[in-house]
Amino acid sequence: MTRLVNTFSYSHSRGELFRECPRRYWFARYGGWGGWERSADPVTREIYRLTKLSNRYLWTGHHVHDRVERLIALIANGQPLPPEGEERTGLIDTLRREYAHSKKDRSGHNPPRKGFWGLLEHEGRDFAVPDADWKPLVARAGEALGGFYRSWVLPELREADPASILDRDAELRTAHLDVEGLEVPVHMKIDLAYRSPDGTVRVVDWKTGRPGSPDEHEGQLALYAWYYGRERGIPLDSIFLGPVYLAYRPENVELQSVSAETVDSVLQETVATIREILSCIDDPILGVARKERFPVTSRSFHCRDCPFRPFCPDRPRPPASRGEDLPPETSSF
Ligand code: SF4
Repeated sequence: MTRLVNTFSYSHSRGELFRECPRRYWFARYGGWGGWERSADPVTREIYRLTKLSNRYLWTGHHVHDRVERLIALIANGQPLPPEGEERTGLIDTLRREYAHSKKDRSGHNPPRKGFWGLLEHEGRDFAVPDADWKPLVARAGEALGGFYRSWVLPELREADPASILDRDAELRTAHLDVEGLEVPVHMKIDLAYRSPDGTVRVVDWKTGRPGSPDEHEGQLALYAWYYGRERGIPLDSIFLGPVYLAYRPENVELQSVSAETVDSVLQETVATIREILSCIDDPILGVARKERFPVTSRSFHCRDCPFRPFCPDRPRPPASRGEDLPPETSSF
């Protein structure tokens, strides 16, 4: 049987993870590699299981994105959309079913079965959240899905030629960056891009969370603009990008162009981050990386939602006065 190789690649979110905590990056990308194999040692198995867990925000966000993607596929095929209420009910049913499954299936030994979700909050300890916190979360996911039906994007898509939809979160897009002689694949999942009748390209990033600062997503969107210029030959001055906050009003309707200087600066930052990650890795082609070469973060707040704490005795401790209740190390590891 062909053995999988953990060859190095990059994405904006992986870069953010590394910048927050290089050690957590190691756990997520290397620590659990091979943990699915019968012969894997217990630590690797458990780290692999932890990499397969999600948190409640990523989980609900995933399902909203998934349903919006399918709605856009219907539009692209010239098919009518199901009524909003039907879609919202379907979403909430899915969330209820998966929540119940995740809560019940806490063997603590095996990763979630294929097609199922395991939620970090069901691991217990201080990851647990009160039952009352789930209801507003699910309601907000429903609101976000409804937000797509009321979005300014929907009428534009309905009027657009189906062939004008360039991306709709269905495929991973990849462009390559040369970093010190290594061709590094840079992966992107682009929520929606389409040509509007005036010839410009609109790139939309669905957000199910609260609006943040205006330039919060600049790095991610500048990478998308770079991708469309490089891989599809679309001139930078005809690309307009922005987040659309589905669950919050008013939406951000102002898509922005991005300057060549911004793209250059984001690319330089990206190359610098990749270089830094590569400096920790022994062999990026064969996927060899030792934990001790990836330092722990100095900021203890990054540890709060980190699933790898039981394996991380070197993590920073918050000042005693703050009294954070972190779980004890798992002594057998
Ligand atoms: S527990 Fe903290 S230091 Fe350790 S990997 Fe997680 S975020 Fe990094």
